Amino acid sequence: MSALAWLSQKLDDGRIACEACHHHCKLHENEYGLCGVRKVENGELRLLVYGIASAINIDPIEKKPMFHFLPGSSIFSFGTVGCNFSCKFCQNFDISQYPQEHHHEIIGSNLAPKDAVYLAQEHYCGSIAYTYNEPTVFLEYSYDTAKLAHKVGLKNVYVTNGYETHKAIDTLAPYVEGMNIDIKGYSQSFYKEICGASVKPVLDTIAYAHKKGIWIETTTLLIPGHNDSDKEIRAIAKFQADLDPSMPWHISAFYPMYKMQDVLPTPPSTLKRAYEIGKDVGLKYVYVGNMDDESRESTYCPKCKKLVIERHGHIGQYITNHLNDEGICPHCHYKLEGIWH
Ligand code: SF4
Repeated sequence: MSALAWLSQKLDDGRIACEACHHHCKLHENEYGLCGVRKVENGELRLLVYGIASAINIDPIEKKPMFHFLPGSSIFSFGTVGCNFSCKFCQNFDISQYPQEHHHEIIGSNLAPKDAVYLAQEHYCGSIAYTYNEPTVFLEYSYDTAKLAHKVGLKNVYVTNGYETHKAIDTLAPYVEGMNIDIKGYSQSFYKEICGASVKPVLDTIAYAHKKGIWIETTTLLIPGHNDSDKEIRAIAKFQADLDPSMPWHISAFYPMYKMQDVLPTPPSTLKRAYEIGKDVGLKYVYVGNMDDESRESTYCPKCKKLVIERHGHIGQYITNHLNDEGICPHCHYKLEGIWH
């Protein structure tokens, strides 16, 4: 199935400009965008993965990871094939790079927006996640789903690399309450050589989406020898603390993957070091992920420092939440930042 990729514009020279992400592809007839799932056909940009999900799961919301957003709830999660990045460490390369590596073939199961919403309700989910591959590349599909989900009281979460244009964020903001945005590094060389993108638009998107009122948590996968120097970790944490110290930061362990099989896994000492740096620059909420570390995956009240959400398990999926529905600390009555109901 394909649908009009309406976040696009016809140019005077006959090409179509995609307006979904910062690659700003300008395409002639029969050309594909860098993401491999948007193509000009008969003079219009088509989204080739509309209604075709490559992966569907009911996940604990902590897995996204979102720790300050309906904690302990289930989230209906799906994605398509295709991506606008080409990260050499991608954990989902089999779907994200599928069209690029298989002559533009599209694979997946039929999942219309209304079916996604129905299934989310049937499984008692509080929200829907657009995830596994980069949702910006299937923006129109996610938009239609999010709009329907909203009508029945479900929330929506984008798990994204942060390459959305302002126009894309403006489009999503009325229906998407939460985003987890990767800050994959802080240097242009890392983004260019490892991810096939640029760092500045990502930082700009985080600031813009935050300004639009979307609840944002960020994730940094620390890759030994590539983005784990004190200087780079501090720069990421400082950027975030300057923007909003109450924005949760997830620091995550890397395991050899895809085109980075020769890099060793992240040692626990690196995660601890990053955790300390995050705290040192003033971030209120820093979390360690992809590793059992109960003390650093739990939430402490920033005012009285007491434990308010206990998390256990590899992704912090087992929780005991001591906050009330408004996110109020039971000990000192500080209202923790987040979306709690
Ligand atoms: S979403 Fe795809 S087609 Fe559109 S600008 Fe980005 S890479 Fe290009």
